[in-house]
Amino acid sequence: MILVLVRESITMHKPWFQHPENPGRIVEVKSALSTEGYSFIEESIQGFNYSEALKTAKRVHSSEYIEYLEKLSRRAPVEIDEDTYMAKDTLNLALGFLNLAYEYSLKSNSAFLIGRPPGHHAGFIGATPGVSTQGFCILNNAAGAIRGFIDAGYKRILALDFDAHHGNGTMEIFYRERILQVDLHQDPTTLYPHTGYPDEVGEGEGYGYKANIVLPRYTGDDLLVQLVGLIRDLLVKYSPEAIVVSAGFDAFENDGLADLALTEASYYALGSLVRELNAPTVVLLEGGYSVGLKRGLLAFIKGLQGESPEYPLLTKTPSTARRLALESTSRVLDKVSKRVLQTA
Ligand SMILES: [Zn+2]
Repeated sequence: MILVLVRESITMHKPWFQHPENPGRIVEVKSALSTEGYSFIEESIQGFNYSEALKTAKRVHSSEYIEYLEKLSRRAPVEIDEDTYMAKDTLNLALGFLNLAYEYSLKSNSAFLIGRPPGHHAGFIGATPGVSTQGFCILNNAAGAIRGFIDAGYKRILALDFDAHHGNGTMEIFYRERILQVDLHQDPTTLYPHTGYPDEVGEGEGYGYKANIVLPRYTGDDLLVQLVGLIRDLLVKYSPEAIVVSAGFDAFENDGLADLALTEASYYALGSLVRELNAPTVVLLEGGYSVGLKRGLLAFIKGLQGESPEYPLLTKTPSTARRLALESTSRVLDKVSKRVLQTA
């Protein structure tokens, strides 16, 4: 697994007002990697094939949405909605990042692509039905990577999303397809985008291929690590041929935008799980706005790389909430197992 920093993420798509999703995030990650002595390569989006990238974007989103973005881009700087801004160069960076995600998976090159803007809230036509905003996201990078793996001929594809917020855009785009999507996120009654309930298990061909794992507020490592164990049982049996990870680090305690209390032990467990599944993997950076981008991200990489640090388990989860979350997750995973292990 190589670490790839998208260079222009540091220079492009700058907000003109105070906003948590800004180039400083990638500066933070870069310095954390350097401080810890991790080597990474820098990819530039300069010279990418714009019209090819547009075509890829139109295989993930509707043509109308992409044309709407192009039109908006000519009027930029502009606010798409109350959460999401578009600077003059935003669409270029978003297309460049999506294009990279697609190319890496098409070539089965395993990599952690560290770039922005994030993508997992961007649905087929932008914000998904009933959701008020597209939550900082322009184009769905994870969906681009999934398309790449499909085009490369893989059948059993896993999309894992552990950002604090539900990956509603990615879930919507593949809701009727046989892509196994496992999404861990804070209880949607308490957090944007207020979607991702356990009974949302997919439709049509995709029925039983969607596992929404709800984390009660203040979930700590004790619960998360236990949930990873339950998910692991399913995924090891499923044995995915390719993996796309939406890696957000905003569930880290005090990262700022959620009410979860994960620390290194959780992200290390998630990284170790992905490593154990041992398939071509493209990881995309989603959220993470402060401490999570350093401590969470580094622990995740240590898990991916098979290092063995000692992390204490922070046991903060309220006990009743913990029991209910485990019961609900078991029910979801039972339902999903019945379907995906039968048809795999
Ligand atoms: Zn998030």
